[in-house]
Amino acid sequence: MSMFGKHDFPAGMVWLVGAGPGDPELLTRKAERLIRTANMVFHDALVGPEVLELAAQSARLVPVGKRSGRHSKAQGEIDRMLVEAALQGERVVRLKGGDPSIFGRSAEEMTACRAAGVPVAICPGVTAASAAAAGLGASLTLRGLARKLVLVTAHARAGETLDLDWQALADPQATLAIYMGKAAASEVSRELMAAGLPAETPVALVENASLPDERRIGTRLDLLPLAARAGLGSGPALLLIGAALGGGCTSDFRSIATAETASK
Ligand code: SAH
Repeated sequence: MSMFGKHDFPAGMVWLVGAGPGDPELLTRKAERLIRTANMVFHDALVGPEVLELAAQSARLVPVGKRSGRHSKAQGEIDRMLVEAALQGERVVRLKGGDPSIFGRSAEEMTACRAAGVPVAICPGVTAASAAAAGLGASLTLRGLARKLVLVTAHARAGETLDLDWQALADPQATLAIYMGKAAASEVSRELMAAGLPAETPVALVENASLPDERRIGTRLDLLPLAARAGLGSGPALLLIGAALGGGCTSDFRSIATAETASK
């Protein structure tokens, strides 16, 4: 038991809880305890049924979002729902995929709670990049080769182009973990090469990391658009780019680069 023991979740409090990448065994013990203790759970679409089953029978489960393309609640509305539930004396868990502090809109929710005088805290989770690397049997950093890990989102609002510093991202000593990047795969490939990253830079695509239907694809930067189109389904996917992805990977790693090279 942590130093806060059982007194860290009084009525009227909000916990922003990282649910991890999908496999319920990748929940932290603290996350599990908080979910069991909550009487209201507001959850993302990416949080799986096995995690939600941990909630008490009497707890209310409220889905609040967020798969791109589908309609989801506006962030401001989620903020208000959390605050309102807490002010009514509920023990509130806001359950988010991965880690709440990584592309999780947790800052807005923290701010809304604090502004309303609602006690709020964060329970970290295993982020998708960690789960993807584990599935690949790869390391995101490599001594001397990949000294830097960049977590970046390639999500653009509809009709807008990505506003990323490609020059800074095209660092041969970095591993890029690109969240929400599936739709932008072509732009990512083109812009990184234009900024100087070699066409043969190793790329790994991991869909549904840590879940039974996890898919792993190995390719290279110039073939990334093809690989994303041909190899990925409709699940959440992470693009990993950099020398660290070039090493040995686990057995059922499909290589789109090999297939393409063979057909030439
Ligand atoms: N807070 C989350 C990220 C939320 S953004 C975290 O820390 O992981 C949503 C994006 O995360 C998805 O578009 C995808 O790029 C990535 N993602 C989340 N779960 C994933 C999974 N199981 N496998 C691969 N990518 C995942």
